[in-house]
Amino acid sequence: MQISYSQINTYQFCPHKYQLHSVEKIPVPPGGNLLLGSAVHAALKFLHDPGRLAEPTLEEVLDSYSRAWPEALHLSEEERSRLFAAGLDMLRRHYQREDREETGRRTATVEHPFRLPLKAEHTLMGRIDRVNVLEDGTIELVDYKTSRTLPAQNDIDNDRQLAIYRLAAERLLYPGRKITSSLYYLQHGLTFTANPAGDLTERVEEEIHWVIGNILAEEFSPRPKKASFCDYCEYHNYCQIFRPVAAEGENQSDMESLVRELAEISSILKDRNGEIKRHQARKGLLEKELLAWFKQMGTGCCQAGGVQAMADVIRRVSFPAEEVRKLLEPQGNWELIGEKLTVSKTALEELFRTRKLPPALQYQLLALGVATDKPTVKLRAVGQEDKEEDEV
Ligand code: SF4
Repeated sequence: MQISYSQINTYQFCPHKYQLHSVEKIPVPPGGNLLLGSAVHAALKFLHDPGRLAEPTLEEVLDSYSRAWPEALHLSEEERSRLFAAGLDMLRRHYQREDREETGRRTATVEHPFRLPLKAEHTLMGRIDRVNVLEDGTIELVDYKTSRTLPAQNDIDNDRQLAIYRLAAERLLYPGRKITSSLYYLQHGLTFTANPAGDLTERVEEEIHWVIGNILAEEFSPRPKKASFCDYCEYHNYCQIFRPVAAEGENQSDMESLVRELAEISSILKDRNGEIKRHQARKGLLEKELLAWFKQMGTGCCQAGGVQAMADVIRRVSFPAEEVRKLLEPQGNWELIGEKLTVSKTALEELFRTRKLPPALQYQLLALGVATDKPTVKLRAVGQEDKEEDEV
């Protein structure tokens, strides 16, 4: 099969989204940020095209940007104006910076397409935003980013799109040449160069085959993200999770009463949650004060109103996400954990339960655990034995 980076990315984000987009080919209007990105990319292609005899003026670049914007009737006038102005601003700043900061780089080509043959007659397709040749002959692969959020160096080093560009450049487009790859953040005018691990391209190739294998096996389960992600998904209205179903007759009224009761209970719980959070904050302060008092008095417990309060410790074990990622990503299990700074033991145990990982890998993962102790205060009714104690 033929697959592109954006399809791989969509599949890894949510297999059901891939199904709706690439299998069922449901037409949906592109999001505003996608339109902005396409128009800015078109203007940069116009600006940096090495086949052009004279560099275009800023007005010509902005004009090509305006022409690349579609009607976009699905966007409100306000949203469209905001995005359009953001693109103008990015391009103006990029143009003004270009003369000074791009010395030592010569643009070899822009929007360079490739079709890289993979194992089992699959093909990886893509398009590199820009290819530069540096003064020492190194090939620089550049991907433009229009987002405002800047990445951490670790994210750049592991960027899948750059790794795919490298794979195509090393094997197909520039074999034997020294290759480097960079992300260029247009809103900030900053270039970040990746320092990928030596085996990243091999790991990415394995991931591509894992994705292809799942697509061919028609594994398209929805992977709902946090509500905020699914709310912005273009396929939200077609998604099997969010598509409203119409029941008839008695079923209809049963379903309606379930929805009403659920809404009522959720609203009560929402109010209670606020109350619980306030109580938890106060509980934390009281425990802190009591522990300070114990320390001052050189004791570990005290008693009042039939309740004994004792100094105690809660031990939590967490796992550094980056280390866990290195072990889980090659088998395609990292997606189930999600992007976090640390991974909880509960999340790992759930993974062991559902994915049947090899025991050696489970031991390796568990060995990464880091324990932290949090001082706390435990309560029990006076007169109860330890083993029968009841928390009050
Ligand atoms: S709404 Fe969420 S679960 Fe449904 S297709 Fe989109 S990302 Fe996947």
